[in-house]
Amino acid sequence: MAEAEKKTRGSVADKKLRTKFKGKSRRKCRFCGSAKGLIRKYDLYMCRRCFREVGEGIGFRKY
Ligand SMILES: [Zn+2]
Repeated sequence: MAEAEKKTRGSVADKKLRTKFKGKSRRKCRFCGSAKGLIRKYDLYMCRRCFREVGEGIGFRKY
């Protein structure tokens, strides 16, 4: 009877810190989360949809 010995490597604590996506450069609308039609002008970081709704509330008026 052959005894199969499996040498298990010592569990090395090699935990890498997960880099969360939430950082400085998030290219998503901060309201709905979509990245379509994102407006980065003036550090708005919101899509066109939300811009129409929220834009008026923060001082942006339609021309
Ligand atoms: Zn949006």
